[in-house]
Amino acid sequence: MDFALSEEQEMFRSMFRDFSTKEIAPYVEELDHAEKPPLDALRKAARQGFLGATVPEEYGGAGLDPLSYALLIETLAGDCMSTAITLATHVSLVAMPILAHGTDAQKEDWLPRLCSGEAIGAFALTEPDAGSDTSRLHTRAIVEGDEVLLEGVKTWVANGEIAGLFLVFARGEAGHEAFLVPRDAPGLTVGYREPTLGLRCVTFNTLYLEGCRIPLSNRLGGPGDGGRIAQEAQDLMAIALAAAGLGVAESALQVAAKYATERVQFGVPIAQKQAIQNYVAGAMIETEALRYLVYHAAWLVEQGKDISFDASIVKAFGARVARSVTNRMLQVMGGYGYMEDYPLARKYRDARALHIIGGPTEWHDFRIARHIFAGLDLAIAP
Ligand SMILES: Cc1cc2nc3c(=O)[nH]c(=O)nc-3n(C[C@H](O)[C@H](O)[C@H](O)COP(=O)(O)OP(=O)(O)OC[C@H]3O[C@@H](n4cnc5c(N)ncnc54)[C@H](O)[C@@H]3O)c2cc1C
Repeated sequence: MDFALSEEQEMFRSMFRDFSTKEIAPYVEELDHAEKPPLDALRKAARQGFLGATVPEEYGGAGLDPLSYALLIETLAGDCMSTAITLATHVSLVAMPILAHGTDAQKEDWLPRLCSGEAIGAFALTEPDAGSDTSRLHTRAIVEGDEVLLEGVKTWVANGEIAGLFLVFARGEAGHEAFLVPRDAPGLTVGYREPTLGLRCVTFNTLYLEGCRIPLSNRLGGPGDGGRIAQEAQDLMAIALAAAGLGVAESALQVAAKYATERVQFGVPIAQKQAIQNYVAGAMIETEALRYLVYHAAWLVEQGKDISFDASIVKAFGARVARSVTNRMLQVMGGYGYMEDYPLARKYRDARALHIIGGPTEWHDFRIARHIFAGLDLAIAP
């Protein structure tokens, strides 16, 4: 067992820190208040190869190993969770499924454009009546000769406003199917943007597919493969989301601990008070436990192992740690933690999303329980 980062991974991490400090941190508050996507940072991230983080170099990607990718998401989330989620959606939920399931033509057509940032990716699975239960999609895919007609409504599409490519899931003859739908496809409309509690630099939009026609060659995988493609993508995303939770927890701890050394009450810095020491110590314990779960999950991906069980564990724990650490660090900062002028309020709002995005915690708990009871010969249903 070797827990050390390789020399290359250390080098990548310091490059990610450098990028995030220069290109994200200075603009994050302004963009968050204006609720604008970090377009400039994304352009610069594309130049660094981050938009094709785990995509092989032959398609224009950076070919990062899964652990280096987790370090990238962790680092970006430390400064801006919105940017980390935008990038993870693009890479884990769109580029990687194309790499895994695309035909040569689909890979050659889309991967270089995704890596260069010419097209940002979005993942359209959720519907108004299909949230946790995505086995019952209403969006229909009707094959007509060498075309497919898509009809339906998708909600909560992260990156909706800025996307050039939508990975859309629909019900076909043989079950769920996945389709690559370019933004300019006839019959596709990007609609309403959801105002949200946090992640305010990510645009979450409703997507309307009304008589939307695309070539059948835009189907990703075969008939009936959609469910598997969506689940594999969400398992990869689960690790990225946990890495984002790690990043936001670490940075909240840093901000609040520093504040505790500067804020004087009763004649001494509040860091001298045992209640505050307990808060920061507890936060550190949770954060370090999460770190090793995230890095281990990334290692499992590297080894090509089945990650379905570990993805749910790391996702559920990541959400819990991010929420509990940002909550307690807000408390350390007292009233200043609750002010929008200080970064803790944003981190707290952003961290809360992790219990819902990528499947709610209850869904991941169910998958973990299903695994436990399967070992005791009992099948359970959601
Ligand atoms: C910030 C954010 C980003 C998102 N990004 C995307 C995206 O890019 N693409 C996309 O397709 N979707 C996206 N989603 C949608 C997300 O995947 C869904 O919100 C999520 O799957 C839950 O669906 P729902 O909101 O309809 O809740 P519901 O399914 O209605 O659930 C409501 C509550 O009931 C609980 N519940 C439901 N069924 C059960 C059960 N069987 N047992 C116990 N509890 C249950 C849930 O856990 C939850 O607490 C995003 C959501 C958020 C908040």
